[in-house]
Amino acid sequence: EMLTLLNFIVVVVVVLIGDSGVGKTNLLSRFARDEFNMDSKSTIGVEFATRTIKVDDKTIKAQIWDTGALAALLVYDISKHQTFKNVGRWLQELRDHADSNIVVILVGNKSDLRHLRAVSTEEAEDFAKSNELFFTETSALDNYKVEEAFVTILKETYRTLA
Ligand code: GDP
Repeated sequence: EMLTLLNFIVVVVVVLIGDSGVGKTNLLSRFARDEFNMDSKSTIGVEFATRTIKVDDKTIKAQIWDTGALAALLVYDISKHQTFKNVGRWLQELRDHADSNIVVILVGNKSDLRHLRAVSTEEAEDFAKSNELFFTETSALDNYKVEEAFVTILKETYRTLA
């Protein structure tokens, strides 16, 4: 149909960054394939995946890759305070090596681990605010706000390009 042909595709490169074991691989597999793996091997690099979403009638193809990022999910584990303390260092890595217009969302993953919470929402929100980052808490396990985290970053990145 003609309207469909008039749509265009914007490719957004997204990187997932953060300490080993915070859930980067599982956030990606949840978003891209709706899959979760309890025994996934922790990774430093990130696998490649793509998914297409629609924003305001435009098709956005998320090309998820480990270099050349325009958008980043900076992930920590809400049950491990050290992974939150390291967020500042990861942010510096992004500022030093990524595109200066990169859009970053701070993601507190494993929000299902309520009884083990070691990073308060307020503490993370304050950090995000003072560093001009978007912020959300997610659970790749419960499929809680994973979609929203990716869609937020894709929409905002699209806006900086448009
Ligand atoms: P990565 O090293 O950052 O890629 O982390 P992984 O995605 O490999 O996850 C590390 C471990 O945490 C694995 O055992 C996952 O099953 C687990 N995990 C990932 N996301 C969640 C989550 O949202 N909740 C819980 N409870 N465990 C998770």
